[in-house]
Amino acid sequence: MTYTDLMPFAGSPIDFCETQRSPEELQDFMAKPAARAILFYKGQPAVDAKGKLIRVHPTELIGQNLVDPHVIFVGLEGNRPIFVGNLQKNDAITLEKDFQNLRTVGGQMSAEELSLAGRAKSILDWHFQHPFCAKCGAPSNPGEGGNKRICSRESCATEHFPRVNPVVIMLVVHDDKLLLGRGPGWPEGFMSALAGFVSPGETIEEAVAREVEEESGIKTKNHRYIASQPWPFPSQLMIGVISDAINTDITINKDELEDCRWFTREEVKAVFDKTGDAFTCPPRVTIAHQLMKYWVEQG
Ligand SMILES: [Zn+2]
Repeated sequence: MTYTDLMPFAGSPIDFCETQRSPEELQDFMAKPAARAILFYKGQPAVDAKGKLIRVHPTELIGQNLVDPHVIFVGLEGNRPIFVGNLQKNDAITLEKDFQNLRTVGGQMSAEELSLAGRAKSILDWHFQHPFCAKCGAPSNPGEGGNKRICSRESCATEHFPRVNPVVIMLVVHDDKLLLGRGPGWPEGFMSALAGFVSPGETIEEAVAREVEEESGIKTKNHRYIASQPWPFPSQLMIGVISDAINTDITINKDELEDCRWFTREEVKAVFDKTGDAFTCPPRVTIAHQLMKYWVEQG
């Protein structure tokens, strides 16, 4: 059982240039005529009417109202240095652009643009959430083109690096049936794969078994890893697993789920074929959608 399609938000064509981030190297990259900056405002990218990321030369950011982390260097796209400008409202460049939620506009974007925008968003969000040193509480400043933050207190000077949080997301199956649930407040009819954060001290398999039993009362076995996905809301690594159910009687944990039910493969297939409406599937950019499509195709 292998998953071969490219997962949305994955497959970045960018060389992150981890070892070419001195102030001099960053300045050289920025001065190149081919260099480009994509633009973000409050974690949302500027896109054109076709859903393409708007790119300007990084020198156009000079004099704009940038906020921490100001400009970050994503890396090289071929020979083209790619930066991200973190803009604030009320300057000319922001007012004339259309900034959109990546969840919404992501479905229209190419795989390359989606992975670039996703990485930029994850790194920006990490900066937004870490303005202070976690060790001593002093303000911290971005370093190495945004790849880290450094404590401003000289006696501390601790370096902090962007984190990724592992989340398990699982298709629980029994014979030809699939277990799906809906969280509180989700849109009517919307159902998805169960998911949850991996706890300290847990393996992927243990996290799957615990989350599924906590949420639905279903015990599981035979956990098979299928695929993973970087999910930039704000920075998860989604680990996609298919597991077999041991029992089928559902006990819904109402603190976690509003509904949880079994669906037949025919019902799930009909949703993908648009010939049935047993539930509303999460959008194409999600790993839940991709795993469900994969399971339907295996049948
Ligand atoms: Zn510190």
